[in-house]
Amino acid sequence: MNKRKRVGDGLVSKLPNVGTTIFTVMSKLATETGAINLSQGFPGFDCSPKLISLVDHYMRKGFNQYAPMTGVAALREALAQKTVDQYAVTYDPDTEVTVTSGATEAIFAAITAVVRPGDEVLVFEPAYDSYVPAIELNGGIPVFVTLTPPDYAIDWQIVSEKITNKTRLILVNTPHNPTGHVWTIDDLDQLAAIVHDRDIWIVSDEVYEHILFDGRIHHSLMTHPVLQERTFIIGSFGKTFHITGWKIGYCLAPKELSIEFRKIHQYLTFSTVTPIQYALADYLKEPAHYRQLPDFYQRKRDLFLAGLRGSRFTIKPTEGSFFQTVSYAAITDEPDHDLAVRLTKEIGVASIPVSVFYHQKNDYKILRFCFAKDDAILEEAAGRLSKL
Ligand code: PMP
Ligand code: GLN
Repeated sequence: MNKRKRVGDGLVSKLPNVGTTIFTVMSKLATETGAINLSQGFPGFDCSPKLISLVDHYMRKGFNQYAPMTGVAALREALAQKTVDQYAVTYDPDTEVTVTSGATEAIFAAITAVVRPGDEVLVFEPAYDSYVPAIELNGGIPVFVTLTPPDYAIDWQIVSEKITNKTRLILVNTPHNPTGHVWTIDDLDQLAAIVHDRDIWIVSDEVYEHILFDGRIHHSLMTHPVLQERTFIIGSFGKTFHITGWKIGYCLAPKELSIEFRKIHQYLTFSTVTPIQYALADYLKEPAHYRQLPDFYQRKRDLFLAGLRGSRFTIKPTEGSFFQTVSYAAITDEPDHDLAVRLTKEIGVASIPVSVFYHQKNDYKILRFCFAKDDAILEEAAGRLSKL
């Protein structure tokens, strides 16, 4: 008789190398120790009361049942309009815009739509943690292009050498988490030159599209025609409106790509929370809500950096996103993971060790701090870090 000794015997993990994410681990440690939490990326302040009133309004009006699978029409139209206004690119709201339960879901659906067993997927690392598991669950093989501090610039010669006839997908993330690196027009041209005559698709994670500094502008992959026709553009309202807990995002992609994307989306979640979609459709009509984000976050970045000026960290101001990386090589040669844990416990400031974003855990002695926090908290954290 087939008697199992323990619950779970015989269950072979599909993700044997995956544990609890570093974001969960560090946030938990910060809570347990009472540390200032600059680890997991989420705003430490609330969203606009107007947005909350709009959600409340639509809930009370009875918009509480399933939304259409592709998203509420008003929100898809508002997104298409925003895209025209901002990037002068047209997506058909009926066939090319899909609302998702966060960017994480959209990334998973887009990867699943195109990756088959044995396909190679180019991943620039350090890489956001959800990409590789999504590739592997689909039988894909991640092929890494390693970017290094302090610039994290892309060597396009290396990229072209990694392309084979099995390459099916390239993952792009600009502005980049965790480094804040921002793509230039030249990067777009270089990528286009590599993919233009090949069957290679692109997933472009642009969740920080509104958070760029020092006058930089976001070069969305949709603005390059060669790239646009093969790219799933992924966005998230979480970063733009300080609502990471609402888990709402979207995918913009040409019709043929969106058809396949939607086949996956409809069986992952089917549809996304209804009253929030109506509320966001109204809220998006005032671009001022997201146009002020660069100034808002640049002031916070600069406040944090001013507080660290006297410290022994080596710092290059971040180009975009709400993350600042710093090198501590001049202070200690401890592994970055150990240092992140020690700083949380001993000085009460939690961060993310950047080695976790490399598949071989390359340790360049870099920590990532999230500066989407109240000013007083940033000043206090910088003061504590400066004593090291
Ligand atoms: N991509 C990147 C680069 C991110 O930083 C995040 C979340 N911080 C996501 C995707 C996931 O976004 P969401 O919370 O909307 O799923
Ligand atoms: N994207 C956030 C970060 O980089 C975390 C999201 C999560 O916890 N999964 O910190």
